Formats: sequence, structure tokens, C-alpha cells
Amino acid sequence: MFVQVCGAAREVTGSCYLLFVGETRFLVDCGMHQGGNEEEALNFERFAFDPRELDFVILSHAHIDHSGRLPRLVKKGFSGPIFATPPTIDLVGIMLLDSAYIQEMEAEWQTRKAQRAGRAGAEALYTQEDARRTLPLFKPVRYRERTQLAPGVTLHFHDAGHILGSSFIELELEENGHKATVVFSADIGQPHRPIVRDPETLGETDYLFIESTYGDRLHAHNGEPDAQLTQILDEAKRSGGNVVIPAFAVGRTQEILYYLREIMDRDRLDMQIYVDSPLASGATDIYRRHREAFDEEAWKLVGEPGGIFDFPNLHYTASADESRALNEKRGVVIISASGMADAGRIRHHLKHNLWRPEAHVVIVGFQARNTLGRRLLDGAQEVRIFGDDIAVKAHIHELTGLSAHADQSQLLEWASHFKPPRQTFVIHGEPQAASTFADLLEEKLHFNVDVPNRNETFKFG
Ligand SMILES: [Zn+2]
Ligand SMILES: [Zn+2]
Repeated sequence: MFVQVCGAAREVTGSCYLLFVGETRFLVDCGMHQGGNEEEALNFERFAFDPRELDFVILSHAHIDHSGRLPRLVKKGFSGPIFATPPTIDLVGIMLLDSAYIQEMEAEWQTRKAQRAGRAGAEALYTQEDARRTLPLFKPVRYRERTQLAPGVTLHFHDAGHILGSSFIELELEENGHKATVVFSADIGQPHRPIVRDPETLGETDYLFIESTYGDRLHAHNGEPDAQLTQILDEAKRSGGNVVIPAFAVGRTQEILYYLREIMDRDRLDMQIYVDSPLASGATDIYRRHREAFDEEAWKLVGEPGGIFDFPNLHYTASADESRALNEKRGVVIISASGMADAGRIRHHLKHNLWRPEAHVVIVGFQARNTLGRRLLDGAQEVRIFGDDIAVKAHIHELTGLSAHADQSQLLEWASHFKPPRQTFVIHGEPQAASTFADLLEEKLHFNVDVPNRNETFKFG
């Protein structure tokens, strides 16, 4: 029994683990590398394996850094089943099509640029057609439904409390009479988040792969997210500026709506709110359909007029014209994707608002290196958007309490439920975060820890 760490090794994105158990070989996640040009180039590299020889894939959750290379896998010959929870399957359906559209646009743009320079055109990482061929491969497996996928490979999904349908993965493996259990944390949520349940915990595993996105940081407690948001909305209301919120279409947008609904309800704040992302609107529909995965508080709200995701003043824009019309509005809240502001309609809204001193930009999630969101967070005075230099005069806020990721102490708490595993691998974190968290696991929990490099292989048993 072996595992090869194919991605999210000393980096946050590109989650992908290749397992060999007897005659069976399979992947846990097949995510996209995101960040800068260098990271994105990795997506085009050959897989470290032949996709045609894989028996199946297990997907932890819908986020693109875990699912985004699945259509590439299919394009390169994979045709086996992909196991995921029912909400994940619905979410990934819209996300992969959206991702494919972005890939096609990107290739078109690169091709035009190349042709002008007299070079050959660029190929899309994958097309919408590849994404469409991927979707029928998904097979639902519910939380805690013990499922044998192949001889010697049994799967349990546990609720990771990160986004709707997100799971951490427990595998019972057996080869020639040798048994081993392996847990992949994927992304662990913070406890007490709106909508989703708290992450489950487990008492033991032989091998543990644990994320470390915030392995070297605690979420700043500059107040509860709804108090911070209330204050920003009040300021914007006074100054007449817009509040622009780059938010992941899946998860973060719905959480923001949850808080905004509360604030609007409580303070009778009269501001118009626009969700300007077809993907976020689609994802919100899927949230409406999967209330079985909600926590208790959210479940209660479902019965109230309008539910969680429809309230007065809230608008979902669809067409590009409706989106453009927002450029003329003042004193409104605009929630748009992508969450790190490196693609999507949010870039237009930032271009139109960043230079206005009365505007507010609210950063609500993790911002990878080399993204526009990260540059704003790091205090850039000027940024480049669509080839234009834009001065940053707007107020930049960070709502750290909203993170969908557990912070250092919460990750450590989650890990502490395990008896020390035979070996622990710290993954899904930038080098500093991963090594800090590895040290902490050794010191505080006496775990035996490795921080793998990309493509490193380890033996189980
Ligand atoms: Zn995630
Ligand atoms: Zn992730």
C-alpha cells in the first residue's frame, strides 16, 4: 500500500493523492493549482500517473482546488466512477462547467495573443464538453455510509463543516492481510459557522493527512463577523459608497447572505444587495435544495418567510447587462466572485470602486499569493486590472472570523481527538504554515510528522 502526494504539498492548492492498494489504484481529490502563472502552469503538466489506469476517484468537496482537474483527467482518458456526497455532486456540476468556461476564455485570449506574435495557438486545459463528460461519472455516497469501493478499499465520508457537502475521508485499506486506516482531512471548517454543521472528529487512524492552510495563524478576533459587517455597512451608508465583497461563489456567498439577512432584519438597514455571479446564484439554489446538510439554526430559518437566501432588498443579477448596470449604483452592497478577485465579474466592480475613497472592499476569505485579493490585503497603493492602473483609495477590510478554514488552534483541537497516528502528513499549507503546524503537532500531541514534497511517495504498513 502506497500513497503518492501529487499536489497540495507545501502549497495550498492542487490537492491530489494517488493510492495503490493491491491491484487497485485511485485518487483522493484532483484539484487545480491556483495562484500565479507558475502555479497555473502546473495544471497543464502531465499527471504523475496514467489516468486510464485509475479505478476511481474520491472527491472530498466541491472547491476547485480539490475538484478542478477532474475534467482534465477525463480528457486524458479516465472513465471510472467519482465518489462524492450528494450536495458535492450538485455543486461540482455547476462549478466544473464554470471552470471549463473560464479555461476556454483563457485559451482564446492566449491564442489571440500568440497569433499576434506569430506563434501557434493555446489549448484549453479542458472544455465545457470535457466537463459535461465528467458529470455522469459521479456516484453519491452519503455521510457515514460505509461503502466498499474495491477489494480492500472501504470509504466513509465524515462531515468536515467547511462548505455544504464537504467531507473528510476515512479509508479502511487491506492488502495481503495487512490492514491500515487512513484519514484525509481535506479542508476542516471552523466550529460554529452559519449554515453548515460543526466538523466531526475521530478517535483513531493509522495515517493522517491534515491540512494546514492556517497552520501558522490564529483568526484575528476583531469582533464577531456580523458586528464588523454592521459597522462597515453603517459607514458606507453614511458616505454613500458601495460595499464590494469578493466572495467564493460556493459557501462564502451564502454565509455572507446569512449575516446580511440577520443585520437587515435586526437594524432595518435600508441598502440594496446584489449577488452578481451566476455561479453564486446557482450555488445558492443548490443550498436551498440540500437543507438536510444544514445545522440546527439554519434549519429553523428555512421555515421562515423567504428562507435564508431570499429577503427584501436582495437581488440576484444574471445577464452581463444587469452586471454592468451596477457600475452606476451608489450605496449598495455587491457580492461577486471570484473570492480572490483573480477572475470573474468582481474585477469589474473593483475597477469601478477601488479608486473611490468612499467605497469599502471587504475581504472575507483566504487569499493565495499573487492574487489581486492578496495584494489589496497587503496594502497595495495601486493595482492593475484589465490593463489599467487603478489607485487604491477605498477602505480595505478583512473579516477573518468568516474563514471556512479552522485556524491553528482549531486544527490542533481537531487533531487532538486522534490517538497519535503511526504517521501524520501535513499538507495543504504554504511552506511556513505547514512546517509551523508540523512542529506544533510534534510538540503538543507527540505525533510523528512529515511535511511531504510534491510527488513524494510513502508506504503504508
Ligand atoms: Zn475547500
Ligand atoms: Zn482546499
